[in-house]
Amino acid sequence: MNNAQTNSIESESDNSIKAKWLSLAENFIAEFGKNAFDNWIAKISPVSFNGFELSLSVPTRFIKEWVSREYLDGKNRIIDGQKIWIKKGIKQIWEESFGELQSINLNIDEQLNTVALNTETSVEIEDKIEDNVVSISKYNNVHALGIDLNPKYTFENFVIGQTNKLAFSIAKKIAEATEVDTDTNPLFLYSGVGLGKTHLLQSIAWHIQENQKDKVVVYLSAERFMYHFVKALREQTIMEFKEKFRSIDVLIIDDIQFIASKKSTQEEFFHTFNTLVDANKQIIMACDKCPRDLEGIDDKLKSRISSGLIVDIYSPDYDLRMQIIKSKSELLGIEIDNEVLEFIAKNINTTVRDIESAIKKLVINHKLCNEEINIANAKNILKDLLKISDEAITIEKIQDVTAKYFNLTVEQVLSTNRQKDIAIARQVAMYLSKKMTTNSFPGIGKKFGGKNHATVIHSINKIEKEIEQNDKLRQDIFNISASL
Ligand code: ADP
Ligand code: MG
Repeated sequence: MNNAQTNSIESESDNSIKAKWLSLAENFIAEFGKNAFDNWIAKISPVSFNGFELSLSVPTRFIKEWVSREYLDGKNRIIDGQKIWIKKGIKQIWEESFGELQSINLNIDEQLNTVALNTETSVEIEDKIEDNVVSISKYNNVHALGIDLNPKYTFENFVIGQTNKLAFSIAKKIAEATEVDTDTNPLFLYSGVGLGKTHLLQSIAWHIQENQKDKVVVYLSAERFMYHFVKALREQTIMEFKEKFRSIDVLIIDDIQFIASKKSTQEEFFHTFNTLVDANKQIIMACDKCPRDLEGIDDKLKSRISSGLIVDIYSPDYDLRMQIIKSKSELLGIEIDNEVLEFIAKNINTTVRDIESAIKKLVINHKLCNEEINIANAKNILKDLLKISDEAITIEKIQDVTAKYFNLTVEQVLSTNRQKDIAIARQVAMYLSKKMTTNSFPGIGKKFGGKNHATVIHSINKIEKEIEQNDKLRQDIFNISASL
């Protein structure tokens, strides 16, 4: 840590705004590119944040004018009544991570000698991030529209566990196939947010780009698909648009839920989809819901996108969380005590994205403050994330949500009633309590009206067997865990 920086860190809040700002470096680079980042964004220093207003400083008037004009606020367009960011600014990027901002103040501070995103410590962190940004031309046969593919999103970097191994192996199989297998086409991949869908989709793109250079791959979000479609309509280049999309070998569309309620985009997507499938081209989609639960999507499109293989990813279980934490901390070049690893794995049981933010926060704080990472400061640094997990998953909450889902009362779920639907709900709730909390078998039994641990184990085994062959139950369990 250099001296200038040590001096500038005086208070807790000063630290936390710096940490917040630093944690956005990757997002800034992804949105503006590395050059703009180095030339402008890295010259900005965060000064204060009061929950509504963010104050930033820059060293010269020229930088102030440039940043104000080019980077503070994004440009949006309203399409189908929705605000779509064509280009995001610092404000939107901040808001995506930390919630709404009333305004940003940009001041000149000629004394400014600490450049927040350019200090020694942050450079180390960003070195790890830097090669994240690759320009489109470097992809050769892969066209990533409106986004840079993340070089870290590869199969090699994907940690495999019980909850994602099916999705992983199918994605890998598709990426390796030289011919389209109708069993896996189209592939519809779904899960809650932050569980690795985008990571897997991009892994497919990277893999094909390295191994099958003759294939044309297009990777884009459904939002981008709509953007190109609307643009083509406006510029009367719809024929080229159709041509372009219909000459693809592998079409990868992320966040397909975005086209819900966008009628004309759906219509166009339906045609593109049919043409590609009929020509035996591979389509891969990711979505935050299973097709059945997608609202605002035309039935014929819905049945078309569900006509191939549908695969889901569940929330990571304890073992996978441990593996992921180990792998992510190694990638960031930091060793974290086993005790702290276990603490994070036990307490952050929501999404991989949350686990990742936890590790990043710890690393940034460690590097800024030079403190060792132990459970006490981890608790403090990860307050926000831990709160989410605590609130999200308790046995009581699982019982409540499960009971509601099956139209039962919590009392029924906790009772000894052996009526089939009640017994299943009870077993499902026990199963989820084991999967989603860190309670022991006896602990779970106690909270289920004092059942013994053998009953709990028996129930969980039963559900585990049942979901292998019962799609409906599997789906029910997914829906319940999603609403948890
Ligand atoms: P989604 O698209 O499902 O919302 P992402 O693919 O964006 O989720 O994943 C969120 C973050 O978690 C990414 O940084 C991704 O690399 C990471 N991630 C998710 N699953 C895994 C995994 N199994 N192994 C390693 N990293 C993962
Ligand atoms: Mg995603």
